[in-house]
Amino acid sequence: MVDIQNDFVPGGALAVKEGGQIVPIVNRLQSHFDLVVATQDWHPANHGSFAANHPSKKPGHVIELDGLPQILWPVHCVQNTVGAAFVPALEMKQVAQVFQKGTDPRIDSYSSFFDNGHRKSTGLGDFLKARRVKDVFIAGLTTDYCVKFSALDAIQLGFKTHVIEEACRGVNLHEGDVANAIEEMRQAGVEIVKSVETLIR
Ligand SMILES: [Zn+2]
Repeated sequence: MVDIQNDFVPGGALAVKEGGQIVPIVNRLQSHFDLVVATQDWHPANHGSFAANHPSKKPGHVIELDGLPQILWPVHCVQNTVGAAFVPALEMKQVAQVFQKGTDPRIDSYSSFFDNGHRKSTGLGDFLKARRVKDVFIAGLTTDYCVKFSALDAIQLGFKTHVIEEACRGVNLHEGDVANAIEEMRQAGVEIVKSVETLIR
């Protein structure tokens, strides 16, 4: 479950259209899986991905951050704020572990597995491998950023990777971003699961 946090659903700082709609779907899915983990975008207030931390920059601008191109975002998912908390309706009883990301102010972390420079691991890959996980099914926010980069890394790490399209929503900062993300994942070998019904019938 990727970043199903208050700031990414309507009312939040970086709200994704229809982001909240995935919550009942994800809740329904959980009992059909042997192992459930969650990731949490968890930034310090001085994080370099926040436009507010760069004079005269606005959300959507692209800068260079510690050698990497970085899209600037509104301030979101600041550690220990309501915005960073999981959506209250999200069922957490079955969650074996939460993996936090984006904690280093100098680098962003879209993927659930590594930061954007692949400099540090979150520990999720080793956690899954230690439990002999073969297949990874991904749901959450957002299709065109954190879900996409998580799926691409999961493939790289050798997991059979599935993205449950109906249980994800995207930012679509530019028209077509979500469709392009789906296509990019497919090309990389990710199975796109259109409907939840095919998983739990
Ligand atoms: Zn973030």
